[in-house]
Amino acid sequence: MRCLICGSGSLEERYTAVRDHFGVVPGEFRFLGCNACGSLSLDPVPAAESIATLYPREYTFRAADTSEPAIRRLLRAIEWRLFYRPQYHGRLRTIRRLTGLGAGRALEVGSGSGLFLRLLVEAGFEGRGLDISREDVAYARERLGLAVTEGDLATAASLDARYDLVLMFYVLEHVPDPVELVRSACALLAPGGWLVAAVPVIDSLQSRLFGARWSQVTEAPRHITLPSRAGLVRMLAAAGFTDVRWGAMPLLDNAGVIVMSLLPGAATPQAYGRGATLAPLVRRFAAGLLLPPALLAAFAERLPLGPGPGMTMVCARKRPSP
Ligand SMILES: [Zn+2]
Repeated sequence: MRCLICGSGSLEERYTAVRDHFGVVPGEFRFLGCNACGSLSLDPVPAAESIATLYPREYTFRAADTSEPAIRRLLRAIEWRLFYRPQYHGRLRTIRRLTGLGAGRALEVGSGSGLFLRLLVEAGFEGRGLDISREDVAYARERLGLAVTEGDLATAASLDARYDLVLMFYVLEHVPDPVELVRSACALLAPGGWLVAAVPVIDSLQSRLFGARWSQVTEAPRHITLPSRAGLVRMLAAAGFTDVRWGAMPLLDNAGVIVMSLLPGAATPQAYGRGATLAPLVRRFAAGLLLPPALLAAFAERLPLGPGPGMTMVCARKRPSP
């Protein structure tokens, strides 16, 4: 076993007996910590062909569906207005500030239900999405009218396009070979194009405070790595990127993760997944009440002396042609 982020063989046990906080995958999992870059890697790494079975059917948030009971429709509408939509606008502002891009050809890898991709298109980007979930791809295409392809980056290579922007929101930590993912993203970019990734980073205040109970750890075995900032810089440089820049993900993103760490079982798959009962919806409502204090904690995490926010945006530029 080697560190999945930097390739070092110097690893030691970091978290053991980790359980899936969504209760989807039974058993216990363990993470090894890298002595060279500080990143965590899941041991053993799930086999590529089993990855799809680790996910609940509804993993990313969708907007209200008219076929649902009124109470769930109402909750979805409230969440969209107060939680997701402002986050997505915040993400777009940070992308523009860090890369200077106002428009261009964009590929979102792991576009999920497509709600962020739709915002990107509305903002003037020529946007395409890519996702391995057949249900999400169908939703994004049929309900939102977006250009989304089912598949991974190997599929994208056949799309034969050069992008100004490749986006990966919470994707890197889910794949067994993040180095290969970043290299493939680089190959799809035009020279001087930007990779923008959102990732949970292990060197953050929330990671230190929650330890093995951090919701980004208990997202095992869907989370296969939890990179450090130093590990990300090494990986991006090795893949052909330069000019690494950091941004914080919106306070709401970070606050949401803090709440999930305090109140496991309050996340989207339990609350809205098919066959969901009332209890998870009540937990989801309680989670909403915890959001204001979590926002304060997320704000504190950004103060200059701390290690930085848990949910981080990292951007890097493909080397321009000589
Ligand atoms: Zn490492």
